[in-house]
Amino acid sequence: MVKYKRGEKMAKKRKLNYARLAIVLVAFLIIVFALFQLFRGLLPNKYAAYRNVEKSNKLADETEIVNEINEGDMAFSSINYPMFENETLNEEIKKIVAEFKKEPIDDTKEEIHFLDYQSNMIGEQYISVHFTYQILDKEEVVIKSNHKTLNFDLTENKVMSLKDILRIDYLDQLQKEAKKQLNVDLEATAENFEAFILEETGIRFYMSDFTESFLFNYQDNIRYLKLDNALIPTLAPENVVKQPKRKLDPNKPMIAFTFDDGPNPGLTEKIVDLFDQYQGRATFFQVGSRIEQYPETTRYVYEHGSEIGNHSYSHQSLATDDVEAIKQQVYDTQDIVFKLLGYEIATLRPTFGAISETLEKTIDMPMIIWTIDSLDWQSRKMTNIVSEVEPRVKDGSIILMHDLYETTYDAVAYLLPILSERGYQFVTISEYLEFSNQE
Ligand code: ZN
Repeated sequence: MVKYKRGEKMAKKRKLNYARLAIVLVAFLIIVFALFQLFRGLLPNKYAAYRNVEKSNKLADETEIVNEINEGDMAFSSINYPMFENETLNEEIKKIVAEFKKEPIDDTKEEIHFLDYQSNMIGEQYISVHFTYQILDKEEVVIKSNHKTLNFDLTENKVMSLKDILRIDYLDQLQKEAKKQLNVDLEATAENFEAFILEETGIRFYMSDFTESFLFNYQDNIRYLKLDNALIPTLAPENVVKQPKRKLDPNKPMIAFTFDDGPNPGLTEKIVDLFDQYQGRATFFQVGSRIEQYPETTRYVYEHGSEIGNHSYSHQSLATDDVEAIKQQVYDTQDIVFKLLGYEIATLRPTFGAISETLEKTIDMPMIIWTIDSLDWQSRKMTNIVSEVEPRVKDGSIILMHDLYETTYDAVAYLLPILSERGYQFVTISEYLEFSNQE
């Protein structure tokens, strides 16, 4: 009886305990679940570092950071790249990403493929992106890495090459900087310095394996800078006026008139005006020391759309000069025009039409000779000049004249209506080169 009674009591007690236990259990599960939820983000996640890329080095105002995760049976890949408002830039980025994606992924191995990047925006105009593609093994040791840099000018809407950024003998200067800062001997070739990005205080150049880099400081290298942005110092004046590009008819024959040894105030302007009348342009290969004397004449030529070419500083013979003298003659003239107009002269007419091997090796500019010599300096007679030119002129002719003589002006005034009537368009040397390169 006692036993029964006790049993009844016990059963009652046990019933109570079961209910309590169930409540405790449920509460416990809720707490565990809550804690799990709370700490899930903190728990070690496989490949977490490759799923969520570092944001603090992405500073170029990207509209989106694309993150493509692919988990195979064994291999894992995370591809990250930026998208911007500029569609031309986005297309360039997609091309680069597509190149990286060609790297085959071996899904029988536990390997990680990781594309990441860092970006800068300078002067609200230049966007630089440095892509890094890594393949890592399961211990997360890098077994292969690849790099690519991209620099884009939002104002010009184009990818920038080194030539768009730097001027005169910048390759020699880069060679010196690499030696000074990294103690490496590199040849002064464009290939050795093609990997770079723009930073706040300079251009960072990467060695070909990207393990080392050096900064080409803006302040210390002002003479070599061509970048057109108020935040970056150059020799160019403020408020540079750019020559508008014009459309040429590729089906119409072209003639390039060239005038050497100016500027010659009064006459040079009159010749420019003549070309204006026929929607034409010409090229004036000017002498640096004369540009210093008559800068407004040079400006007039430029502002009327004709081309300024380089014809040395003091009309000395570049073909017999040594490297130092050549550099001085050519680059001093480049500097004078760049300081005056913010324009980097694109073509050179060697004095006396003579080119030495040294000259060719020293100066990386198209050297322009002529196909027709008007001999205007010799005859100084309008009829003679016309008869040297008119019967021989054809599509692609480059005519040598000098804007020094009134008789040259008279000959041009006589020739332009006749040649225009025959369907010729009068182009600058740079226009001519651009056109002949397309063919
Ligand atoms: Zn000359």
